[in-house]
Amino acid sequence: MKLALPDRLRAQMLAEAKAAAPAECCGLVLGRRDGDVAIAALLHPARNLAGAAGRFEIAPQDHFAAQKAARAAGQAVIGCYHSHPDGAARPSAHDIAGAGEENFLWLIATPDGALAAFVYLRGVMEGADLVTSSS
Ligand SMILES: [Zn+2]
Repeated sequence: MKLALPDRLRAQMLAEAKAAAPAECCGLVLGRRDGDVAIAALLHPARNLAGAAGRFEIAPQDHFAAQKAARAAGQAVIGCYHSHPDGAARPSAHDIAGAGEENFLWLIATPDGALAAFVYLRGVMEGADLVTSSS
């Protein structure tokens, strides 16, 4: 899968990752799919309910609000994002265990500016091609 991500959304995620450290930021990605390409349109930041370090749990009310916002904008919730304050930009064992929705995109940012995208398919996180654009 390929993910088209506007530069301003990339910058927003990295800024949130930096601001939240040493905790993890998290949120949802709104956009649409066109065949094998996902196009991100906006981010919906969420509260992280997880108490433990190295974890994140999107507040259910925020998830619901994101779905409403997506519908209102003619978009869908196509993925989620969170940060790894002292880890690499790849899914942790906990992330994989917590994933459930097929074809859902996972973006992982680090406070030092790394960002990677994955797609959850049949129990594994596959790397997704991240294409940033200035639009
Ligand atoms: Zn994680």
